[in-house]
Amino acid sequence: MNLRKSFFAAVAVAASAFSASALAQETYTLSLAQTWGPNSPILGETTEHFADMVESMSDGRLKVRVDAANKHKAPFGIFDLVRTGQYDMGHTASYYYKGTIPNAMYFTTIPFGLIAPEMYAWFYHGGGMELMQKVYEPHGLLSFPGGNTGNQMGGWFRKEINSVEDLQGLKMRTPGFAGEVMSELGVAVTNLPPGELYTALERNTIDALEWVGPALDFPMGFHQIAKYYYSGWQEPGAEVQFLINNKTWEKLPADLQNILKVAMRTAAYDMYIQSVHESGVAWDKMQEDYPDVTHKVFPPEVIEALRETTDRLLAEAAEKDPLAKEIITSQRDYLKQVRPWINISDKAYLNSVAGE
Ligand code: CA
Repeated sequence: MNLRKSFFAAVAVAASAFSASALAQETYTLSLAQTWGPNSPILGETTEHFADMVESMSDGRLKVRVDAANKHKAPFGIFDLVRTGQYDMGHTASYYYKGTIPNAMYFTTIPFGLIAPEMYAWFYHGGGMELMQKVYEPHGLLSFPGGNTGNQMGGWFRKEINSVEDLQGLKMRTPGFAGEVMSELGVAVTNLPPGELYTALERNTIDALEWVGPALDFPMGFHQIAKYYYSGWQEPGAEVQFLINNKTWEKLPADLQNILKVAMRTAAYDMYIQSVHESGVAWDKMQEDYPDVTHKVFPPEVIEALRETTDRLLAEAAEKDPLAKEIITSQRDYLKQVRPWINISDKAYLNSVAGE
């Protein structure tokens, strides 16, 4: 969509709604349930920032009350909380609901798929938004991109992974499609909520885990237990999502709907750049304060096994469900179209021009 055109259309709609309607004086408070705990860095800051923007832009006519996981007790139940109308909105990651709506998973990330700028380009210019709506609409929900973590790390491991055999029997927390891939390679996969990760690692309930990247991993303290920090393959550009109950959306005047849209998009962008900044700062500090933390990349043999398994499972998912096929094909085709450009620009710059 032409961004300039859509911005002016939004302003025009907002102006007409404001002048023409008594609704302009009505105030609304929306409840938002987030997967994240209270005072959660970056992720929780994103919803607070969003709520502040909404209230300020609407001059107090629209407020958002944010409830963290300790309040609603359902970090992985956001989809249901919003679908059933117990909450107006949610902030979560689509791939946590792969058991209920498997096709939602692809809107967070696909292993070996799009990096963050490509993911946003796909959402806004490559048909991603329309496909996401197609998945959520039958559940009475709207969904919008809610912030990107950037490229995620492959996780924290107590032992080095030198071969596919080293994955056998490993107990690891890793959600989404990546969990299914690792499970095929013999990993005992779990998905624990963020608040339980440190204890699970400390008590050997799990041997390894992936969470996000230095900005969010460092405060969790995983580096005190597991010393090998692997680069990722599984979440090249993980996008979290805002969910909105359609009935809530429809009762709002058009100008407030537009304020929500602008605030969600701004909050998402701000989360992405905050992630880049804070991971840079955190990794720099980690290298200094914890020289025993070793950065690793998985050996080619392991990456090949992960890639082959990913391709096979994606082909199986596409075979079973036409909408899954449409989404997977759309992302894959988009990657083929846009990646050659990334290769001769960002990748070439980082590999051969920029140096260290
Ligand atoms: Ca992750």
